[in-house]
Amino acid sequence: MAYKITDECISCGACEAECPVSCISAGDAIYAIDADTCIDCGNCANVCPVGAPQAE
Ligand code: SF4
Ligand code: SF4
Repeated sequence: MAYKITDECISCGACEAECPVSCISAGDAIYAIDADTCIDCGNCANVCPVGAPQAE
């Protein structure tokens, strides 16, 4: 299980600093989560203003 950032992402960057394992990075259009590193903590979903990170 891992979180995934959907197309709702507005690339604000808020989630990147909140990830305890630093697995969020800026992509071409939206931010992306490295699924192999994500520990499913939910921090990114809690800080995202548009609800882009979703649990898979
Ligand atoms: Fe990082 Fe937690 Fe979000 Fe996974 S769920 S990307 S570990 S902040
Ligand atoms: Fe995208 Fe939400 Fe992360 Fe901002 S907090 S970069 S909108 S996923």
